[in-house]
Amino acid sequence: MIIQPKVRGFICTNAHPQGCAANVREQIDYIKAQSPIEGGPKNVLVVGASTGYGLASRIAAAFGSGANTLGVFFEKPPTEKRTASAGYYNAAAFEEEAHKAGLYAKSINGDAFSDEVKAQAIEMIKQDMGKVDLVVYSLASPRRKDPKTGELHSSVLKPIGKSYTARNLNTDKLEISDITLEPANEEEIAATVKVMGGEDWELWLDALGEAGVLTDDCKTVAYTYIGEQLTWPIYGHATIGKAKEDLDRAAKEITASGKADAHVAVLKALVTQSSSAIPVMPLYISLVYKVMKEEGTHEGCIEQLYRLYTEGLYTDSPRLDNDNRYRVDDKELRPETQAKIEKLWPEVTEENLFELTDYKGYQADFLKLFGFGVDGIDYEADTSPVVKADFE
Ligand code: NAD
Repeated sequence: MIIQPKVRGFICTNAHPQGCAANVREQIDYIKAQSPIEGGPKNVLVVGASTGYGLASRIAAAFGSGANTLGVFFEKPPTEKRTASAGYYNAAAFEEEAHKAGLYAKSINGDAFSDEVKAQAIEMIKQDMGKVDLVVYSLASPRRKDPKTGELHSSVLKPIGKSYTARNLNTDKLEISDITLEPANEEEIAATVKVMGGEDWELWLDALGEAGVLTDDCKTVAYTYIGEQLTWPIYGHATIGKAKEDLDRAAKEITASGKADAHVAVLKALVTQSSSAIPVMPLYISLVYKVMKEEGTHEGCIEQLYRLYTEGLYTDSPRLDNDNRYRVDDKELRPETQAKIEKLWPEVTEENLFELTDYKGYQADFLKLFGFGVDGIDYEADTSPVVKADFE
């Protein structure tokens, strides 16, 4: 079939297998061009390993530190008539490249929130790796089924306390208008914490610890975004921020339990399948791209992850904040960078969108997430959506 992007609102419903594979290879090449990660991980479990920051975590561990990796994700496989989701193609391409390089790489495609997938991961670790010395927790999901009660919790992206009106870019229609978001009620806040908070991260570490598959010096990390005042009302101080605060609690508990040295890592705002769904973020990210590219400080997922490993997880002098979090958002949050973004923010209109912001770059990166607009790929060519993978 001819595979062209099918964009619906802030999501693209198909993906290009060769484009996704090329993206994975590009990230691998970036890591290979850096110095190896000294003292880096050897046996790694990545939960949420197929796209965005989790995929970059897996690539950096494997190709920067020669690590064996087990990846867990939830992706749609292809059929003869329908493409897979991008993460499926990414994971298949990653495994192929890792195997070519002589690295162990296996994956589980299933619900990471379930007890079954945790048990399956433990069995595979026991059989193939013995123990893991790093557990990366990089899930982003709109809902979670509680394995104990069977209840399905859905997260919301809403402010807390009072309604919030902000400039929003409708990425479908390229319209900029004010949107007002009503505050979340207590139930919605609690549900968001259930889905995106630290409970499942702790359940993973409990299960792995009880099964005896964590090394004595095991590290674990979960990802968050903090941002500055432009995004606080919809992120840092909103429902998702509340959930992310719960990661700090979980990190303390995990470390105190002795199972692993747990940290939250603060990463920068980037286009991923998850961030494009958050109101206000597309406009903010387009401005971040504009300013940071001009400054020469722009980074993608893979650059961020290489720095997390070399300046956070595997160095004797990590950059930690007062809450014991690794900070890799340092360049985005530089006062002079934020000041430029804040100045541009009220000036952006539909007419000057492409001039004042890097919306072009945002859009290109968005399509690239699904394997589109990638150099060297013939998008007019008849392409089979079916790609063979070792996972289901
Ligand atoms: P993403 O959408 O690219 O990746 C999400 C991953 O989770 C995918 O691998 C997906 O398959 C997996 N997943 C979702 N539900 C699952 C389930 N039920 N079972 C198994 N796997 C499941 O998102 P991302 O932006 O890379 O986010 C990863 C983490 O990084 C999140 O915690 C996010 O908050 C954080 N973060 C993101 C940004 C950003 O700007 N994108 C910035 C800082 C921190």
